[in-house]
Parts: sequence; C-alpha cells; structure tokens
Amino acid sequence: MRDSAWITRMLAISLVVLGVIVFFIGSKDVSSSDKLGNSDSSSEQSAWSPAKVQYQSDLKPPAAQAPNKPVNNQAPQASLAPVPTTPAAATPPQTAQTAPKKTPASKKVPKRTFTTTYRFKSYTPKYVVAWADPSNYGDRFATDVYGTPINNPPIIVLHETTNSAQSAVNTFRSNNSQDENRQVSYHTLIARNGLVVYLVPPDKRAFGAGNSVFDGLNGPETVQTNPTLKPSVNNFAYHVSLETPPDAWDKNVSSHSGYTDEQYNSLAWLVAQSDVPDERITTHRAVDRSGQRIDPVSFDFDKFYSILHSFREIAIN
Ligand SMILES: [Zn+2]
Repeated sequence: MRDSAWITRMLAISLVVLGVIVFFIGSKDVSSSDKLGNSDSSSEQSAWSPAKVQYQSDLKPPAAQAPNKPVNNQAPQASLAPVPTTPAAATPPQTAQTAPKKTPASKKVPKRTFTTTYRFKSYTPKYVVAWADPSNYGDRFATDVYGTPINNPPIIVLHETTNSAQSAVNTFRSNNSQDENRQVSYHTLIARNGLVVYLVPPDKRAFGAGNSVFDGLNGPETVQTNPTLKPSVNNFAYHVSLETPPDAWDKNVSSHSGYTDEQYNSLAWLVAQSDVPDERITTHRAVDRSGQRIDPVSFDFDKFYSILHSFREIAIN
C-alpha cells in the first residue's frame, strides 16, 4: 500500500513533471529531426541517469543512494530541471526514510556502490530530453496486484529500435491512450551518433517489456502490476535502447552490422552513473517470455563491459 507521505510526494512531483513537460512542449520541441541530430546541449551535464531510479518503496535518502558520484555533485541545469522530479530530492527527510524496508531479494546479494573514473569524466556525450507522452509510461508500484510489497533492486534492460531513433521518438511522443497495444517506451535511447535521448524519467515505469522475467542471482524476478497482463520486469527495470543500424530497419533479422563506438561509449557513460551491478544488466531477449523478442541482436557484451569498467569501479568503503 502507498503511504500518505508517498502520495503527497508524488503529487508534488507530478506538478513539477507537468511543468517540465509543458516547458519542453512549449519552448523546445526536441523531437524535431534537426534537434535530434544536432543537439547543442553537450555543455550541460545531465543528472538523468539510472542512478536516479527511484521506487515507491525506495525510502533511502539521496545521500545514501549515490555517494561518491562526481557527476551528481555538479549543479544541474535549471532549464532541464531534472532534480526536482526525483522524489527523495524534492521532499525533506522523513522519519520513515531512516528505516528502509528490506526484502529477501535485497538481502541475498550485498549492495555495491561504484565510483566513476577519470576516463568517464573525459567522455561527455551530447544529449536531449524528449519526453514521451504520459500515455506511454506509468508509476512504479510499491506493491503487486496481490498486495505484496515489492523491493527488487533495479536492473538495466538493453534493447534496440526497429527503425530509426527519430521514428522511435515519434512513437513515444504520440498520445496512445486509446490503444493499449501501442503504449510503449524506453527510459533512454542512444542514437547512432552517440546522442543520448532521455524519454521517460527514471523514477517512472517505462513500458519496455511485456511478459518477462529476470533470472539473476536472486532467482526469478518479475512483478505483476496489472491483473489482465502477464507479470513483467518493468516495475524494477531501467530500459535503454540502441538505434538499430539502417541495414536492419524494419527487418526481422537475427544479426546485423552492429552498433557504433559512440553508442557503446554513451551506453557505458550512462550505466557508469548507476550502482546497477554488471550481473543486473540484461537484454530484452534474456528477460522475454513471449518468445518474440530477440533484441538487441549483434550486441557485443565484451566490448561494452570493457568500456564500462574503464568508466566506473567498485567503491572501496
Ligand atoms: Zn526490446
């Protein structure tokens, strides 16, 4: 069940998010192809990252969440206003925050924290914020349909687009409230040129996977939040998609020419800002239980981990 403090907090956050959305729709339509391909925002350090994943059941104060994260210590750009949408940052500390709930899932594997490296700081991808239409994502739930508290640690799920990044952004920005089957989204998309496109705030539940289960060190993890739908990993997932190379656009192929170096670098840059451990980084293909999803195809995990490990290291406490 949601406690009243959370509801108050979510109301405040919703207003901030609405304000940000209105601001972007009104003044900066980043979904235009011009902006998508030629972002001029590289000088602004983004505070959006998997590190900002927040759950309704996550009661930890922000300081305990991402210590020793240089990127988070930098002053965020007011025009992007990312910080106020982070629940814990938007409200004063509460008594409940000192007594976080624990579930068996979070006890089995000790939590590690990471710190970013000098090489991380030397790589700064361009990024844009192109909010998905609110019909294409939802809240992260504190309990499942049976009322059982949920406290799965976050996972990162990798995808690829079916066509161009622009095509995907257009889909996510469309109002699909009348058609449940078209309600899809990722949190973040990485274009061929390495541009990072932020689509859904990390504290929200993106609709990136349908029928799905994460098989990790804690055993099978999945959450049913809708009695009419199969359980899914969406409630604890941060979905990142790579733009597919043109040779595979709209083709149902099992391999293609692969992703660019810029895409690997930007993906590692994004993930390096989180405390999500390697073993909780997975693919749509691995979590899918519909038998229909095989993305991302031709993804080089060795290459990705090599860059990731040069961008972050385990913090020594
Ligand atoms: Zn996918």
